[in-house]
Amino acid sequence: MDAGLKRELEAKVYAGERLSREDGVALYDSDDLAWLGRLAQHRRTERNGDRVMFNVNRHLNLTNVCSASCAYCSFQRKPGEKDAYTMRIDEAVRKAKEMEDEQLTELHIVNGLHPTLPWRYYPKVLRELKAALPKVKLKAFTATEVQWFEKISGLTADEILDELMDAGLESLTGGGAEIFDWEVRQHIVDHACHWEDWSRIHRLAHSKGMKTPSTMLYGHIEEPRHRVDHVLRLRELQDETGGFVVFIPLRYQHDFVDSADGKIRNRIQARTTMAAPAESLKTFAVSRLLFDNVPHVKCFWVMHGLSVAQMSLNFGVDDLDGSVVEYKITHDADSYGTPNTMHRDDLLHLIWDAGFQPVERNTRYEVVREYDPAPSLAQRRAEPQQVWA
Ligand code: SF4
Repeated sequence: MDAGLKRELEAKVYAGERLSREDGVALYDSDDLAWLGRLAQHRRTERNGDRVMFNVNRHLNLTNVCSASCAYCSFQRKPGEKDAYTMRIDEAVRKAKEMEDEQLTELHIVNGLHPTLPWRYYPKVLRELKAALPKVKLKAFTATEVQWFEKISGLTADEILDELMDAGLESLTGGGAEIFDWEVRQHIVDHACHWEDWSRIHRLAHSKGMKTPSTMLYGHIEEPRHRVDHVLRLRELQDETGGFVVFIPLRYQHDFVDSADGKIRNRIQARTTMAAPAESLKTFAVSRLLFDNVPHVKCFWVMHGLSVAQMSLNFGVDDLDGSVVEYKITHDADSYGTPNTMHRDDLLHLIWDAGFQPVERNTRYEVVREYDPAPSLAQRRAEPQQVWA
């Protein structure tokens, strides 16, 4: 990058000025990773100090049966396929109850677009989960699922959200966003929920007082300009509603044939590579710099491995998700040896070892507990942590 442009961008960041579309593309053009990290870290520290938030949650996927066939998805199964499953309500409750002694504060529930499950199933499952685990917040369903519920129920999203909230819904999840630009989206997304509906449903959720996450799936066939466009759409909606609490860049995954039937379902795998760690760190940094009105940027460590997760804390990230005891969607597409179970203590040590203060939060990002600041580097090295994958 031209030294003059670099100085100009740096001056904008340190003056707290909003970055433009061109600035975003220029930042992605830079190969100076340390510089990008320093700028993002400046923005992150201004907002969140040296705190790193996490929550203790469990991911629950009620069904992997899906009417759509998104090109990148290794999770979905068609009815009758060997490892297709749909949980009965009592089964979902039993699985959630198994986590009770983990003191989980949140259940994160996303699912396939099941062709025959009736709409009534969804509020019912929330009600029963809430009755069984009254202290646990239910973060459930993508905007894509809500739009699917409109289709199968004949109700409006407004009525659907009211009923789901009455049944115990605390927040929608941020999924289904992928990349909004149609130039890319038309090649990877196979359902009917695009920017217009995704933003309509999150806007509606925000108007009802919900705080929701936002996401972006990166590192497949998109170019940096598409990532910039994606974030700017979210930033504009955030200016309007203020309802997004976090932004989560999700790393596109290859399908590593660990499913029972040995099939590769990812249809763009042959012409794509997965984003390397440097690309992921750059994406975290540029996202933090561009999405200036979102409070938090999260690293979903299951998709990155623990080393990148730890490094991301120096590239604009201030939130780690989470204590996952079971997570099917990504682990159907991950053969990196990343553990699929992390507990509170594991996360605390991961954060301290990176030099930050862990703060446990709930679904709305309210503080549950502040832990001690990180011990000094000398103390940390005197008692080395286990080597993270
Ligand atoms: S990404 Fe979601 S909607 Fe698309 S095929 Fe997979 S489960 Fe279905």
